[in-house]
Amino acid sequence: MKTDELREKYLAFFESKGCVRRPSDVLVPRWDPSVLFTPAGMNQFKDHFLGKCKLDFTRATTCQKCLRTGDIDNVGRTAYHHTFFEMLGNFSFGDYFKREAIHWGWEFLTSKKWLGLPAERLTVSVYHDDDEAAAIWADEIKLPPERIERMGENDNFWPAGAPSQGPDGVCGPCSEIFFHPASGGSVEIWNLVFTQFNRVGDPPNNLRPLPSKNIDTGMGLERTAAVLQGVDSNFHIDILRPIVEAAAQTAKIKYDPASDNGRRLRRITDHVRACTFAIHEEVYPGPKREKYVIKRLLRRAVLDGRQMGLRQPFLHLLVPAVAAAMKQPYPELGQTIERVSQVIRKEEDNFFSTIDGGLERIEKIFHAMQREGRMMVAGAEAADMYTTHGFPPELFETMAAEHNFTFDWDGYRAAMAEHGEVSGLDRKLELFKSGPLDGLKKAMHGSEFVGYETTTAQAKVVGLIAHDRLCDQVDEVNHEEPIVVVLDKTPFYGESGGQVGDSGELVGDGFRFEVIDAQKEGGFILHRGHLRQGVIKQGVAVTAKVDVERRQGIRRAHSATHILHYALQKHLGRHAQQQGSKVDRDWLRFDFTNPHSVSREELAKIEDEVNARVAAAEPVRWTSLPIAEARKAGAMMLFGEKYPDVVRMVSMGDFSKELCGGTHLDSTGQVGLFKIIGEESVAAGTRRVVAVTGAEALDRIRRNESALAEIAGALRVPPEEAPQRVAALVKENRELKKRASAGGPASGVSADELLSHAIDVSGAKLVVAEVPGGTPDGIRQLIDQLRRKAGSAAVLLASRGEDKVVLAAGITRDLEGKGLNAGEWIRAAAKAVGGSGGGRADMAQAGGKHPEKLPAALDAARAGMQQAISERQ
Ligand code: ATP
Ligand code: MG
Repeated sequence: MKTDELREKYLAFFESKGCVRRPSDVLVPRWDPSVLFTPAGMNQFKDHFLGKCKLDFTRATTCQKCLRTGDIDNVGRTAYHHTFFEMLGNFSFGDYFKREAIHWGWEFLTSKKWLGLPAERLTVSVYHDDDEAAAIWADEIKLPPERIERMGENDNFWPAGAPSQGPDGVCGPCSEIFFHPASGGSVEIWNLVFTQFNRVGDPPNNLRPLPSKNIDTGMGLERTAAVLQGVDSNFHIDILRPIVEAAAQTAKIKYDPASDNGRRLRRITDHVRACTFAIHEEVYPGPKREKYVIKRLLRRAVLDGRQMGLRQPFLHLLVPAVAAAMKQPYPELGQTIERVSQVIRKEEDNFFSTIDGGLERIEKIFHAMQREGRMMVAGAEAADMYTTHGFPPELFETMAAEHNFTFDWDGYRAAMAEHGEVSGLDRKLELFKSGPLDGLKKAMHGSEFVGYETTTAQAKVVGLIAHDRLCDQVDEVNHEEPIVVVLDKTPFYGESGGQVGDSGELVGDGFRFEVIDAQKEGGFILHRGHLRQGVIKQGVAVTAKVDVERRQGIRRAHSATHILHYALQKHLGRHAQQQGSKVDRDWLRFDFTNPHSVSREELAKIEDEVNARVAAAEPVRWTSLPIAEARKAGAMMLFGEKYPDVVRMVSMGDFSKELCGGTHLDSTGQVGLFKIIGEESVAAGTRRVVAVTGAEALDRIRRNESALAEIAGALRVPPEEAPQRVAALVKENRELKKRASAGGPASGVSADELLSHAIDVSGAKLVVAEVPGGTPDGIRQLIDQLRRKAGSAAVLLASRGEDKVVLAAGITRDLEGKGLNAGEWIRAAAKAVGGSGGGRADMAQAGGKHPEKLPAALDAARAGMQQAISERQ
């Protein structure tokens, strides 16, 4: 039986038992901070199991995309472990229980109509105290006693070891079903968990029966397919073998399952499949949490390739093979092959560029350890390997294990902390979180949002949360921290989908509550703010009023965001997909995929495009419709986003269709004006545009205009000439600085210093020198000072720029009286540097064009004046 067929049969079978078929949750459930990746089918139903939400159905069945980081080291070594795999599940929330779960499981596996597995090849395990399950297997299913094994709490309890070790809370025994292939061995294919207890404290008598019992089962899709297809490893089933073969082909070797390379090819197959799914969902390799897991998987696969002799990026070439193998259940993978391949390719390039150095260094470390008789890889060495060669410590650990060395994790973490880096997995993750909202969640579905149609509504207070607790009433004196008000219905938009929450006020009989922010959580809209007057109580009536002006600004920015998304795709290409966004009052930030920065010309085109759509004043409409219809209508959908069955589709003219819960304008024309104010990088391959709308855009432009007018005024040029003028000033400033620093302290050359180097000629001081950085004014002033100080002096000073020379000369009256002339003196020097000049007999100035000739010209001027003075003695 093909894997695709098995998946469908399972879901159809449980549908026939009254279970509602639900879609898989995403692989990285951002809504659930307690896990990095979805680890099992039950994860999306946590609240259902805990009775934390009102149920729309009590039986469900799914095929869930899972990723287990705990199994990384098993991959390739065991026949039956993956990181990414699919889990088929059936679930009961206080509905059917043990008997049905066992009977149906058996029926599905053994009935000819379904899988038709030979009953004699199946065995089961039960928790040692679970007589009920054992009896069902023995008496009703008629399994012989030797095929029912009783096991302890570490094997057959969920969570493992819970009765003695905890944690407290919902838990229960489980029963596993194993298949024994003719070739020997056995494989666990299905686990039935019976959550029937609430653990309260330590044993004994700490397991209390739950009033409402649940069923949570998980069947491994790949394992069961392997059994049905009669192959000896999950990697040899119809949807995985082609990827293994594709990997072998890129490595130019023949796949030999038993060899080292066989193991490497299986690992590459697993890892590239896991990474393809994750990157498809926009989880890119990075330094932390789930991103780090992806980085580590990619690097591990690259290392495997390297060890098979590959020296060039190869992993990204396998993405099409993954998309092809998984095409039937996940056709969307086909749409992102290029993007996913690019991301993988980049990470491969990075790692390949340091891998040789890294491996060499690791070899050295291992040699040194052998020489010194050390058995444990030092944490500091591992930290260094990670920070300089990008070798994930887990990879290092694996390589160390091959040499029988252990690894100092504590030391590693300490060393990383010293680097100021936190990397890798957060090891402590909360399993279940509970808070003050839980009580409310049990009582009602959530708050009704009426804010699409109106900004004012009559409502009732259904919950008050102060100091993290639900309470009956709050009065204005007893809170400083914001408090939270929950209403049965509200026009306030709770922050979600990137759009900020509304602000405004709730007023009622004798009280006024100022709402500073509205948040959304578990279907409820939480109005956060301060009670400004009176007492607010559970159950009272309020008039909820949204700050309308602010809301208008938010609407403008949100509709503009959709238009921008459209314009980006039109001008940059289909890849320019949304990665994240934030929409505030007349302000928006939009992150999207693009390999490089967006040029100024492109930005202008995009801005023009948006404003053209605004000017066209196209209608904005929204409808609610089933997800499948929205897809058919061509609505833009984001990968890694789990959409509800019924979605809200916002369309503008006929150019934009997006699934969006935000508040929008009635016409694109109401945006008024759209202005991009920034473009920058946020991460590799992701760019960010920041823009403003409406009055804010106009205000920006006006502020820029007046700033320009001020600059132009200060420069005394028309505004349009200001840029050249400023550029010239900047250049001049740079040159002056350069000259100043080239001259070192001499730039501040003093008259005294020059005088100390003067030549004494018959009682007169002769100073001929270059003054680096000297301006014409500065030089003239120096000459004046020197004349005054010396009493009798002839001074010629010069300075040079890149392509010009400035000269000035002066003599004292006594020398003038002897017939000497500064003008004549300087003329000769100016000529020598390719220029001209002149002036009075006592003070003259000149310029030249050949700075390189200045030293010779100064020497000549010095010699000439020295002779002239001596001659007139
Ligand atoms: P094992 O002990 O073999 O690792 P498990 O006890 O961790 O399995 P469960 O947590 O009970 O498995 O998950 C339910 C089912 O999911 C298993 O019976 C198995 O068929 C499948 N499964 C679990 N882990 C993996 C994996 N890493 N790769 C493939 N299938 C798996
Ligand atoms: Mg396991």
